[in-house]
Amino acid sequence: KKTFSDRINRIEVSATMAITAEALRLKQSGIDLADFGAGEPHFQTPEHIKRAAIEAIEKGYTKYTAVAGIPEVRRAVVDRHAEDFGSNYTPEECCFATGGKQALFNAIECLVDHGDEVIVPVPYWVSYKDIIQFAGGTPVFVQANEADNFRVTPAMIEAAITDRTKAIILNSPSNPSGAVMSAGDVEAIIRLAHRKGIYMLLDECYTYLNFIGKPVSGGSFTDCKEHVVVLGTLSKTYAMTGWRAGFALGPKAIVAAIAKLQSQSTSNVSTPVQYASVAALTASQQCVEDMKVDYIKLRDRLLAGFATIPGLTCTVPQGAFYAYPNISAFLGREGAATASQVASRLLNEAHVVCVPGEAFGTEHHLRFSYATSADVIDKGIERMRTFFAGLA
Ligand code: PLP
Repeated sequence: KKTFSDRINRIEVSATMAITAEALRLKQSGIDLADFGAGEPHFQTPEHIKRAAIEAIEKGYTKYTAVAGIPEVRRAVVDRHAEDFGSNYTPEECCFATGGKQALFNAIECLVDHGDEVIVPVPYWVSYKDIIQFAGGTPVFVQANEADNFRVTPAMIEAAITDRTKAIILNSPSNPSGAVMSAGDVEAIIRLAHRKGIYMLLDECYTYLNFIGKPVSGGSFTDCKEHVVVLGTLSKTYAMTGWRAGFALGPKAIVAAIAKLQSQSTSNVSTPVQYASVAALTASQQCVEDMKVDYIKLRDRLLAGFATIPGLTCTVPQGAFYAYPNISAFLGREGAATASQVASRLLNEAHVVCVPGEAFGTEHHLRFSYATSADVIDKGIERMRTFFAGLA
């Protein structure tokens, strides 16, 4: 008898793991790395959020809660969303989850069956492919246009729709490219999906880190609500990655299914974390603005550095905290056949950590997270200049 289920055999460990493990090994052996690998804010969680968690523990809020979250947190999510995006979700249309990842996982498990297709723009966040395959679905990839700042148009999505299309995933601002879709493109794709009875899964994990305009949410198009599921998180917005706090917003029946799945797996999000999340969502949002201003400065510093490396080209990221330079000019040479090889040599020879594009479905790129200090950026650029000069 075989040991493992077909289900578990259909997925792989996150492709970013290998390089992260190698980087950790080098760090532990005392090597000073310029680390652009991590997909998380370098900021600390703001004090008022930490205090709310401590107070919750001291008040004894340490027991189980309703699976979908305490009424206060569901209310805080929908109120913030209504204020920022003009949506009209009720608390029953919100399930609080252990990170945006669990919200996304549960939504896909609830909607996608064997044989169903899910449209995924490329480059994509690593987990989409595996989560869809775990559900038995098939990811259908649509290449974004790098020459047009990694734009994905409604026409490109429409061309990928078949009778089997169950859902479309959009992630704007994007991990890994930093691309931001125009509100018009998002709306057109949502209306197209709504007309065709296809579900929109909007991964809005970086929605507040939009550098070119007002943050956009698919939840704003309330007349298409029946087919819209918004996946949100506090991880990036409030520098809360380790707290594990996210949410799904969608039609009541879908949210109930998501909560049903959660009731048979993790149950409620850690109770003190729910109280901390209420504080994050209801207090002044100035901390979010302040962090955004810093990310823009760090982005500009990294891009200015890239510009001093002949052969490296990079679209201008318009959101999130990633840059996705193209390294085609260096590929195919000896010892640098693929982006993975280049990333591995960058790590071992230049002590610079980044993630190769293969993890995100493209072959000519490296992902750099600039959620780090200006000093790390300067040091990393200096090392890369020498490294790439040696490759050229
Ligand atoms: N979606 C995208 C595009 C991400 O980059 C991440 C985290 O890196 C997530 C979702 C999930 O984040 P979390 O589970 O911490 O909310």
